[in-house]
Parts: sequence; structure tokens; C-alpha cells
Amino acid sequence: MLTLTSPIEEFPKIQKPLIAALKKLKIFSARDLLLYFPYRYLDFSKVVEVKNIRAEKNISLKVTIKSISSRFSFRSRMSLAEAVVSDETGSLKVIWFNQPYLAKSLQKGDEIFLAGMPEYYNAGLQLTNPIYEKVSSFPVHTARLVPMYHLTQKIYPKTFRNLVAAILALKDDIIDALPENVLRDQNLLKLKTTIQYSHFPESLEQVEMAKKRLAFEEIFYNQLAAQSYKLKLAQKQAFPINFRQELIKNFVQSLPFKLTPDQKKAAWEILQDLEKPAPMNRLLEGDVGSGKTLVALIAALQTMQLGLQVVFLAPTEILAKQHFETARKYLKDPHPSRRPTGHLPPEGEGKTRVCLLTNNYSTIDDQPVPKPKLQNLISDGMPGLFIGTHALLQKKVKFKNLALVIIDEQHRFGVLQRAALITNQKKVPHLLSLSATPIPRSLQLAVYGELDISQIKTKPLGRKSIATKLVENKNRPLAYEFIKKQVLSGRQIFVITPLIEESDKLGVKSVKTESENLKKIFPGFNIGLLHGRLKPMEKEKTMAGFLSNQTNILVSTSVVEVGVDVPNASVMLIEGAERFGLAQLHQFRGRVGRAEHQSYCFAFTDKEDGETKKRLDGFSKTEDGFRLSEIDLKLRGFGEVYGQEQSGWNSKYFDENYTQLIPAAREEALRILQDDIKLAKYPLLKEKIKDKVIHFE
Ligand code: ADP
Ligand code: MG
Repeated sequence: MLTLTSPIEEFPKIQKPLIAALKKLKIFSARDLLLYFPYRYLDFSKVVEVKNIRAEKNISLKVTIKSISSRFSFRSRMSLAEAVVSDETGSLKVIWFNQPYLAKSLQKGDEIFLAGMPEYYNAGLQLTNPIYEKVSSFPVHTARLVPMYHLTQKIYPKTFRNLVAAILALKDDIIDALPENVLRDQNLLKLKTTIQYSHFPESLEQVEMAKKRLAFEEIFYNQLAAQSYKLKLAQKQAFPINFRQELIKNFVQSLPFKLTPDQKKAAWEILQDLEKPAPMNRLLEGDVGSGKTLVALIAALQTMQLGLQVVFLAPTEILAKQHFETARKYLKDPHPSRRPTGHLPPEGEGKTRVCLLTNNYSTIDDQPVPKPKLQNLISDGMPGLFIGTHALLQKKVKFKNLALVIIDEQHRFGVLQRAALITNQKKVPHLLSLSATPIPRSLQLAVYGELDISQIKTKPLGRKSIATKLVENKNRPLAYEFIKKQVLSGRQIFVITPLIEESDKLGVKSVKTESENLKKIFPGFNIGLLHGRLKPMEKEKTMAGFLSNQTNILVSTSVVEVGVDVPNASVMLIEGAERFGLAQLHQFRGRVGRAEHQSYCFAFTDKEDGETKKRLDGFSKTEDGFRLSEIDLKLRGFGEVYGQEQSGWNSKYFDENYTQLIPAAREEALRILQDDIKLAKYPLLKEKIKDKVIHFE
């Protein structure tokens, strides 16, 4: 007797190769098989009479085999099975290629279902390679909506469907993790019905109902994890950071520009969070160039005044270095006299330490120090702002008084990496994430369910819009002519290419060949080369050359994507633009137009298909990151845009059509947690979210 937990090895007559292939799909048991759902259906539900057959339409037939024979065709070097089938209304010719065993399983007189698409052949209608099965009251491959699964080449669709059909009855024993009242309130199918309707639906409505239940379930677990984290965090202790008006006021007044209203509002929201005894968990969202770094520095400044430690994490060394320099510049006068008495830090008295820690740097202010020494100082609790990359996340770095963690481009860091920093102290640090990746409003709760959000919507005054043009290959010379003029008037140029080395097959431009190419086109100009495989020192040199305007044109891969600030650059030229997502293109474009110079973005593509054009057209017509994120979502779909990496959530069934389920799922999740935060009464739910939640020590 098979049960839900029976391993697939115990299935009757199952062969070793099939077992291995199923395991590749992570199907180990009967339950796994039942929960492996189809991704689409072929509609063979119409069973027609032979006389009513029309060409080019999917149909099923219920017929008797009048004759069947097979032979080997030497001309086409294939086996060929030919049959004539008929019902009361007429007969039809059927041909199967390359199915030598078929004539053995089908015989004259058999009653069968056939499913396929009739075509004209030599003036008559014919069925080629139809799916067949013996007539029964529960057809699986024909005469129905036929499920299609993502399978490997080693598994025939028919074999798979037969396996599912053979154990379908076990669905009745499956325990639903979704609580009954949730199902009732949200009008959702039970899991066993979902299994039935998903694999072998009787109508498209049933398919829809099953999909909705699966999408809801996914969003529900996502919300449950997010809310559970949020509630647990609210019970933790953080360092309360008192708002010090004088300090912030002086800092803001010392800046060479005025904060924008959105920057002020965001800073205010953050400073209020910091005052609370429970940890902040806030996302600061704002387009490239909107001035997030400064807002983050305000939070850092306030925190450091108490002699506490602040971490500022960047995804790349280039960016960490840049933040370091920004911080050094703006925090150089930390107003020491206004420190609260009794909070004076033992070391670094009267001075705000800004340290850089990456694979290649270890400094206190601008003094290099051996890494172990810096690590020791950190674990002794030296106050300061520690800016760096993943190197700050290493086990050897043990913060003692870490009160605030700022994460730039937070989606570049995994949930676990974030967790590593915030969970290893008694007091949990406040967390401020920065992101320039706009998320459509309808999805914010899903992607950032556990975060509070501050937004910077407007850029600093005086920024000009960036003229964006899609450039066809034939207009390349015009673009180069334009670039020449820009460089001669003192500006600098970014050129982005998709690859490091040329890949002939794809015909995609690479940094290396492109920089050679540009050297020929612009013999008098200095051309720099930047990519992720350069040694850090070389990268450094290249960036320094570009920053000081020694280099006129910087050819780079997408490593410049995040945050790099070169105000003198006025043209962003992107090769193979179709290879990048809209959000990423928007990021590239944000590298220029960071000062008063009118700036330009040229997107080169030789792809002409409609989809690509539509996407890139959207990019050239709008500079609104939110708008672009909506277009990206529509064209590429939720999973593609906000997959695992962004949301920590591998969405299989949820997609943009189900956004209206998000608030409901959130409410249901909250209702359960408010009453039972440990999920003690819901062991199945607890199990479902155990990999999604960050655990505190
Ligand atoms: P992002 O949001 O992309 O991280 P940055 O913080 O790097 O943006 O800011 C982009 C540039 O704008 C920096 O050179 C910064 O000094 C400058 N900046 C920030 N805030 C303002 C402001 N209120 N007015 C003028 N310039 C500003
Ligand atoms: Mg930035």
C-alpha cells in the first residue's frame, strides 16, 4: 500500500532511470509528486466527431482502429506507424513517426482517444503524432485539459501523468497547512482539491481556483515570515539614540547645499525610529542621485555621538571607498564639544573615527592599520563609522557596541548576511537599508513586508533631465561625433558593455575589444578599462584616473552600476542595451547628470524584436524609476524581476496578477501571529516559514 510518504522507489514497476530523473526534480515521495504542479495545459477537452474535424485546431477524437501497421522508411530513416481510425461519422488517417513500439500496444479494433491538431496532407485531413490512450472514464492524456509539467528529457510527459494519476487518490490524506478559517474567509480551495484541480482540471475555472490558492499560500507564508520577524524584532532591545537637534542642525548647515524636503522628511523619520528602544528596520528608497547617502550619514552622525559603532555596508569596494571619502569630507568636524557628558568614548575622544574595511583596505581615518589590529579595536568597542564591504561581515569582526547598520543597495546582500550583523549582540542594532531599485507600490508589501519605508521622490534642485536616445547601429558615427565634442569641451564618458571577453556566438560586445576599438576611433583620448576581474589595485587606479579627469572615456562592465559618483561625466553609452533590465539601465543612466552639465544616455542595440523595442522605448521615454519598475514588471513578470535575490522569495505561483491578494494575506498572517507569535498552535505553518525567518540568538 502506497502512502503519501512512500518513497518513489516503492512505486509499482518503476524503473531505476526514472527514479533518478524524478529525484533531479526533487521528487522523492508520493507527496512530492502530488505537489509537483503543471505549469500549463493543452486544451484537448473538445471531443469532436470525425466529420466535424477542422484543420489547425486542438481536438480529441473517440475512435476505433480500423487498421494499423508499421514499417521502416528508408527514405526518411525513421519508423513509421500508419493507422486508419473511424467513428460513426467518418474515418481519418493517422501517422506516427519514430514510435516503433506503438503498433504493439495498439491493435485493430481498439477503442482509443486521440488528441492532436489535424492538418491537410495530400488534399486530405490527417493527424500526425497525436497523443493516444485507451478509452476510459478518466482519460489522462486526451479528451481533457492535459497538464504539462516542467520535466527533464528523460521523463516522458505521458509517464509522468500516469504516475500522478495512479496516486491521485492519496491527496485525500494530505494535511493542509493553511488554517481552515483562512481558507473559508478568503474563499480558497482546500489543498486536496487544489491537487485534483491542478493536475486534472475539468475546466479552466478549476485551474484558476487552484492557481489562486497556490498564489495565496505563497504570499501568505511570505507575509507570515515578514510579520513574525517584525513582531519579534519589536520585542528586542536596541540602543535608543536621542535626537540631538543642535548637532543635526549644525551638520546640515555645514553642508554646501540645502537638503531637499524629501531628504529632510526621511531623515526625520529615521531619527525618530532611532530614539525608540526597539530596533529600527527601515528602507530608504530613492532614485539614483536622490541623495540617500547624506540622509544615512545624518543617522550615523547622531549614533556616533553616543560613542557607539555604526556599520555602513556597500556591495563593491569602489563604492565603499567612495562612501568613505564622502563620510570623511562631511563628518570631518564632528562638533565634539556638544557630546553629552557621561557618554564620552574612551578612545577617539573628541573625534569621529571613520574607518574603511574591505578586502584590500584597513584604515582608521586615512591611516592604514593592520587588519587584525582594526578587528581588535572593533571588538574592544572603538566607536566610529565602519565603512566597508562583505569583509565587515566576517566572523573575525565582532562588534561590541554596534548600534546602527546601514546597508547600501540592500538587495545585493542576502538575508543571511544581513542577519549575521544584526543578531550576534544582546542589543540588536537599528537597520537602515538603502535602495535605488524602485518597486511598484502594489508589490511593496510583498517584497519589503518586514520593513518600514521612507521615500525620496524628488532629486536635488538644479538637476537637468538626462536626454535618452535609442541608437541604431547605422547612427553610431553620429553618436561618436557627439562624444568627441563632449570630451573636447571637458566632459567625460562612460561606455558600458555586457561582457568582459568577446563571445562570438552571441555577438555581444566586450569591454576589452570595445576599448581597443574606441582607441582607434578616438586616438587622442585617454581610454580606461574597468571590470570585475581586474586586480583591486588596477581598479583603483582606473577609477582614480577617471575621477581626476585623466581618463576621458571609461569602458566598463556593469561594475559601475551601483552608486559611483563622477559629476563631470556627461554621456552614458550602453552597448547591447537589450541585455539589461530596465532598473539596471536606469541605474547606469544615473551615473551621469550628477552636476550642472546637461547629460545624455545612448542605448545601443541591434535587436529589433518588438518586445525589446517596447522595453527600451519605455526606458528612453521616462526617467521615473517607479514607472520603469512597473513596465519591467509587466514585460518580464514578477519572478524574473523580483526573484529570489530581491525578495528572498522564490515565487513559483505568485505573479503580478495576484497583487490584490497581498493585503488579505498580510491581514490573515497578522491575525494568527497576534494571537500566537510562536506559532505553537500551528506547527505546519512554523515549518513552512522556518527557512524564511531570521533567527535571533
Ligand atoms: P544616491 O541616492 O544615488 O545614493 P548620493 O547620495 O550619492 O545619491 O547623492 C548624489 C549626489 O548629490 C552627491 O554628489 C551628493 O553630494 C549630492 N547631493 C545630495 N543631496 C543633495 C542636495 N540636497 N542638494 C544638492 N546635492 C545633493
Ligand atoms: Mg548611492
